[in-house]
Amino acid sequence: MARKLIIAANWKMNKGPAETVEFIKAFLPGAEELSASCEIVIAPPFVCMSAAAGLLTDSVVALSAQNVSEQEEGAYTGEVSTSMLNELGAQFVILGHSERRSIYGESDEFINAKVKKALASDLKPIFCIGETLDEREGGKLEEVLRTQVSGGLAGLSEADMANVVVAYEPVWAIGTGVTASPEQAQEAHAFVRSLIKENFGATVAEATRIQYGGSVKPGNSAELMAQPDIDGALVGGASLDAQSFRDLIANGVA
Ligand code: PEP
Repeated sequence: MARKLIIAANWKMNKGPAETVEFIKAFLPGAEELSASCEIVIAPPFVCMSAAAGLLTDSVVALSAQNVSEQEEGAYTGEVSTSMLNELGAQFVILGHSERRSIYGESDEFINAKVKKALASDLKPIFCIGETLDEREGGKLEEVLRTQVSGGLAGLSEADMANVVVAYEPVWAIGTGVTASPEQAQEAHAFVRSLIKENFGATVAEATRIQYGGSVKPGNSAELMAQPDIDGALVGGASLDAQSFRDLIANGVA
């Protein structure tokens, strides 16, 4: 089964509502052509999602959140619920990003609760995994990925997996300008696909899209996307400029 590429912009804590509108107005012309061979997703900060939704509804670009609560509603100061995201028309939510894991202490178990809550609420998780440099150099790459995959996706059904996108993001390549070589990335992606096979079987493994994340830019997206097990990208820095994000996608799909 051919897997359609999926490239997502993770703006992190950048851009306010006005800049969000400016970006989307600059980005949308031409997006339709790119979307023929690539699903395009933008994840602005929560406070910009309403402004983004106003422009993205009925467009070829899907709206994503960068996080969501595992709770339904109630006394959870500062949290945002799945139903709030549903109301805005969000289709995706980034979960388990390394910044959430390392800065905010999110565990595999906690991320798993969020993944399940998202799926139960018709939101598609972009589920992030990846090793630190110490873990890679210490020979722990496979162990770390195995734990993250089995923990974060625990209890999901094969049908659930049809709505999950996995993002392999080596932590040492995020925001550093250092990209995994296409060979390093392909090797890790093939391993992640084998983990999905272990957990959910060959059919699910073949159908699951695995994005690469870590300093993807217009100059390296083509060689990364050309790898057989790389099905798209999760992009931080290079997604903040409309032209750069468009070029990155155009080169990736070429
Ligand atoms: C990310 O935030 O997921 C990411 C990959 O960032 P960058 O592209 O800036 O490395």
